[in-house]
Amino acid sequence: MACELCLLEKKTKWYFENNEFVILECDTCKIPMVVWKQHGANPPHEVLYDMQSKAKELFGINITFRMLMRKLPEHFHFHVNLK
Ligand SMILES: [Zn+2]
Ligand SMILES: [Zn+2]
Repeated sequence: MACELCLLEKKTKWYFENNEFVILECDTCKIPMVVWKQHGANPPHEVLYDMQSKAKELFGINITFRMLMRKLPEHFHFHVNLK
């Protein structure tokens, strides 16, 4: 089964990319979304920490994280709510 988050098409703006994750604009919500590059639901703690600190670096310390993965629960990602 093809996973939309594994494919990661560059359809929207990409804010940041490294070997572990991508921060891009969510096509549906039009807000930033952080996507782990591996297909799995539980990234290591240090990766999660890096994702959140990078998001704060890009969008400010007042952002909040929406960790719910309703649509694709098997591939780790979260949304960034901007203030
Ligand atoms: Zn996936
Ligand atoms: Zn979204």
